Amino acid sequence: MKIVIIGASFAGLSAALECHMLYPEAELIVIDKEMEVGYFPNALNWRLRQEISDWSEARSSLYQEVMRTGANLLLGWEMEKLVPDEKQVEIRQSGKRKSVTYDYLILAMGARQVWDKQSDDLTDKILASKSLRQMAESYEKLDKSEKSVAIVVVGAGQIGLESLEALSQHFSRLTLIEAQKWPLAKYFDKEMTDWIIEELVGRGIECHFSETVNRIHSDPSGKLLLDTLQHCYESDYMVMGTNFCPNTETLESILTIQPDGSLLVDEYLETSQEDIFAVGDLIQLPFAFFGHSYLPMIHHAILTGRLVAHNLVTKERKLTTIERIVSNHVFGKYMTSVGLTEREAGLWLDADSIRVQQAHGSLQDELLDFKLVVEKQSGRLIGGQLLSTSKYTDQMNFLALAISQHLTVQDLVHQSWLYLSDSTGTVSFVLEAAHQYILSKNREE
Ligand SMILES: Cc1cc2nc3c(=O)[nH]c(=O)nc-3n(C[C@H](O)[C@H](O)[C@H](O)COP(=O)(O)OP(=O)(O)OC[C@H]3O[C@@H](n4cnc5c(N)ncnc54)[C@H](O)[C@@H]3O)c2cc1C
Repeated sequence: MKIVIIGASFAGLSAALECHMLYPEAELIVIDKEMEVGYFPNALNWRLRQEISDWSEARSSLYQEVMRTGANLLLGWEMEKLVPDEKQVEIRQSGKRKSVTYDYLILAMGARQVWDKQSDDLTDKILASKSLRQMAESYEKLDKSEKSVAIVVVGAGQIGLESLEALSQHFSRLTLIEAQKWPLAKYFDKEMTDWIIEELVGRGIECHFSETVNRIHSDPSGKLLLDTLQHCYESDYMVMGTNFCPNTETLESILTIQPDGSLLVDEYLETSQEDIFAVGDLIQLPFAFFGHSYLPMIHHAILTGRLVAHNLVTKERKLTTIERIVSNHVFGKYMTSVGLTEREAGLWLDADSIRVQQAHGSLQDELLDFKLVVEKQSGRLIGGQLLSTSKYTDQMNFLALAISQHLTVQDLVHQSWLYLSDSTGTVSFVLEAAHQYILSKNREE
């Protein structure tokens, strides 16, 4: 049996490992257009923040694990064409071309950051960081720049904020442009993010919320110009914290592609063609409350990469609905969001919330600020947002499970002996919030 995987990043490498475990006799070929693969895209920021001194420290362990399986890695080869009728892919490397046949094909080509509103070729001015090659180029540009170089960051999501945190340690003329009214607006309600705006302003970063960049071009001197309805911003470089586009352009008219550019797959991750599967940033996932949506993230890439291996020969494992959990680490604090925000929930139902804030630790200097979102009438858990100085993965995973089981605040409190504290011994803030919510409703009645 011959399994071919296109793309050697989080999804492709995870798929390769699982395939090796399930089908040790199979011939495994992993193809990637880059010569160096498996790097975390945050490495540019880590390097700017001097958390790593060498790119090798930012390579995922998946790469070494796959190397040890004896899989055949064809690096520097780009898939040019897919020919399903002949069960083969055509690949090329600087002028050379060859065909590779497969019994099963796993597409894991991920997504790229695109900007469809640029009128000139501005690649040189964009500080990209998806591959090691791009990160190294961006780092070199920044390394040669004066402190006063002007950099615009478009988007105050996770990528934009992490970039601003790293860049602000070296550069003094930073501007943020964000279409939403506040940072991380997809995953957090405004009041949970006010501190971020203070942090940005405190670092001298010029912030423009509720502004959308409509056009990017350059002036004769080579300066970058970003137009919004309100203003034209001049800059030397820009960071794109927006717009991921699945790498599916070579698959048009061969596989079914959805309007957002992602590949249509069934619940076993098979595409519209038999024996061709797709994973990672190429596909949408089924999320509770949202139906299918596109959320490009490393843990989704790993999850689907592992799952697909089980469905190649026989369709064994379905992709089931996932609870949306998004975690960030910005300006020294952890921010985790599960389920719906109060603003989102308010679009469909009568939403209510409660916020608990605790200072703890031996010096009372550890912050924990938690907002629980519930459906008003039933008390059903809908979502939670946590801002903290330590990680509380257990409790947020527990909340995700409780939401997926349709539990209410009353269910939590009645079964409280199950989860009075987490593995660190911290009293459950989820439970505390549920308690307080019930008390506040009792007082109102
Ligand atoms: C700056 C930045 C920061 C991010 N930070 C986070 C974060 O903190 N947490 C998080 O969860 N997610 C983060 N993401 C998103 C995350 O990088 C992706 O969700 C993840 O990499 C998806 O993995 P993947 O394997 O599906 O695809 P990718 O990582 O995109 O890999 C696709 C691979 O396919 C190869 N390829 C593409 N086309 C071809 C072709 N035609 N032929 C051969 N090879 C091809 C590419 O070279 C690449 O190696 C970040 C993204 C960026 C850009």
